[in-house]
Amino acid sequence: MPIAIPPHIRRVLNRLEARGHPAWCVGGCVRDSLLGRTPADWDVAAQACPEEVLACFPELPTVDTGRAHGTIGLVLPQGLVEVTAFRTDGPYSGHRRPESVRYAAAIEEDLARRDFTVNAMAWHPERGLRDPFGGRADLESGLLRCVGEPVRRFEEDALRILRLLRFAAVLGFAIHPAAQAAACQCRELLACLSPERVREELSKLLCGPAAARVLEENAALLFAALPELEPLSRCAQESPYHCWDAWGHSLRALEAAPAAPIDRWAALLHDCGKPAVKTYGPDGLAHFYGHAQAGVELAGALLSRLRFPNREREAILALVELHGQVLPLSEKRLKKLLARLGPQGFERLLGLMRADVLAQAPHLASGRLPLIVQAQREAEAVLARGDCLTVRDLALRGGDLLALGVPPGPRLGRTLNRLLDEVLAGTLANEKPGLTARAKELLEEDPIHM
Ligand code: ATP
Ligand code: MG
Repeated sequence: MPIAIPPHIRRVLNRLEARGHPAWCVGGCVRDSLLGRTPADWDVAAQACPEEVLACFPELPTVDTGRAHGTIGLVLPQGLVEVTAFRTDGPYSGHRRPESVRYAAAIEEDLARRDFTVNAMAWHPERGLRDPFGGRADLESGLLRCVGEPVRRFEEDALRILRLLRFAAVLGFAIHPAAQAAACQCRELLACLSPERVREELSKLLCGPAAARVLEENAALLFAALPELEPLSRCAQESPYHCWDAWGHSLRALEAAPAAPIDRWAALLHDCGKPAVKTYGPDGLAHFYGHAQAGVELAGALLSRLRFPNREREAILALVELHGQVLPLSEKRLKKLLARLGPQGFERLLGLMRADVLAQAPHLASGRLPLIVQAQREAEAVLARGDCLTVRDLALRGGDLLALGVPPGPRLGRTLNRLLDEVLAGTLANEKPGLTARAKELLEEDPIHM
């Protein structure tokens, strides 16, 4: 089956070859094309060092952050195209990067440094497929196998351990037993990786359709990267609400959560506080009082360690904190949640609650799922009506209170919040005359602290 190369990539290959540099499409784009998937990007390997690549494209803006490793990024209107010299890697340092690279003469040599057989294929529109390690057969049988000796490859670069799990989760592939055993043997090297790279790989892994299976089969590897989660695997739930231990439950929630990073991280972490707060009641059942708050602390430390951007960290922690809402929600509670989380955050919360229910004992779902649907409908109605949700939505402003004689300062904010509470609870209409009258009453009730 020929691979359809986009015209702009074809032009890059043609230009390099016209100047005497054999060039190929390599790696992920070949793998994805053979799978019938649309490649995220097209990488080119060429027998050309960075200076030669630059000389071939004098008219183009370029990015040269990868230059020491032989890579030049060409900035085309269609996006960035990376052209990397055929290379073999010198000795590795820090279990992550080669100390030096050596340019190679043939594409086959370049393919030998790549991580997995399915990633070690090259395609050329005239010369066809180069597949020295049987990547195509492994693609057909859905198998991830290392190029070369697995332990040595993981010792060179421990990120490959996470890439292995990521490709298994995203592609739904099996891991070759030798690769799995080697990954397990090398798992302590994961501690050497930069937190950002761990985060990036895990975020992609978690969004893969086979993430739960892959993590279940390779839990020791995940726990080597995220030791905070290991106690979940020793935490039986011992209650009629649950049919899994806390780890099995977390994985089932992960599987049922929407496939986006914030939702999947929140599902993975939502119960991570349980082991620390487990107690037994007089009935002999296990209880986990306060586990959401304990989870916020543990997950917060984990997310900081992985250097999550603050906005994402806060979004995930809010979901961990709030995942145990009692349903049905009162109108006031619903509006408070909408005000705090915004429409998107609220939708995420319901997504997590749904995933949580689907990961509990099956007899509970029929009662709880309709309550989640109901909360969704009520939120839509509140948003459609444009109901007041925050002090900014009140028909009475801070300036109006000043005019009534409330002094500037904390008293002003307290009064607005008090009015908001009553509006949210539905006991006070969001209309200026009523709000003004109520504000006066509050001032009279509590004049001393004015
Ligand atoms: P995707 O772009 O979908 O994440 P990809 O396979 O293209 O997947 P990239 O990180 O873009 O992954 O890398 C491009 C290619 O470079 C890979 O297909 C593989 O051949 C090689 N490669 C990338 N990272 C490594 C690594 N850590 N060790 C060995 N080879 C690697
Ligand atoms: Mg790629």
